[in-house]
Amino acid sequence: MNDRIEVVGIKIDNVNMDEASALMEEFLEGNGCSKVFTPNSEILLTAVKDSEFESILNSGHLVVPDGIGVVIASRFYGTPLKERVAGFDLMVRLMDIADSRGNSVYLLGGREGVAEEAAIKLTENCGRLRIAGTRNGYFESEEEDRIVDEINNSNADILLVALGAPKQEKFIYKYGDRLKVKIAMGVGGSLDVLAGKVKRAPEFYQKAGLEWLYRLVKEPRRITRVLRIPKFIALAFYDAKTK
Ligand code: UDP
Repeated sequence: MNDRIEVVGIKIDNVNMDEASALMEEFLEGNGCSKVFTPNSEILLTAVKDSEFESILNSGHLVVPDGIGVVIASRFYGTPLKERVAGFDLMVRLMDIADSRGNSVYLLGGREGVAEEAAIKLTENCGRLRIAGTRNGYFESEEEDRIVDEINNSNADILLVALGAPKQEKFIYKYGDRLKVKIAMGVGGSLDVLAGKVKRAPEFYQKAGLEWLYRLVKEPRRITRVLRIPKFIALAFYDAKTK
């Protein structure tokens, strides 16, 4: 069992990228659908106010800190997380593993055409990875049953769900027992990045823990989202002190 560190009530796996990748290889060999979540500060703040979402995150088989704010917050509890494990990077590692094993992936989410473009980009760089299917992320709840059947009929090994948080985690939790995939991972805006719609911050910003700053400069309307990072850090500080 992994070392799990609790930050504002959510248990986060204390793993680095290599350890997280090794766990995902195990999931591909295992039984049932393993749920992979990658919360950042903003997502944890949402979970504090939404107890259903909190227990969904805690039901994850692998939960990694996709944000420097979560790593900083873990230090207040005297149990520092090893490193930030960016969701996008973890998804790319999972696709590399799938490629080396010849697994198949279903891409669900994003605006019309994004999953298809992401699929093209994935297969450009991969030799053995198979795309089992794609679907945009704008549907009514009545359509979900049919979508789950479609994913199962595609015989996908891996499902990437890009509906944004908490929608994607709730979808994965709701259908986790029915899904025949080995891994269902919430990937947020990562299909947009794969499809070339959104650019990731240069490595300098990523390494300095300043990816949020780069994204803010590119998209100033993210300011309300960015302001949630210090709010989360203050909340975690208070939570740790009163424990
Ligand atoms: N999205 C979707 N269906 C919805 C709402 C959002 O497919 O009902 C997609 C949206 O197009 C985007 C992703 O979910 O591709 C969310 O991106 P965001 O940048 O919010 O995620 P983050 O990576 O910041 O968590």
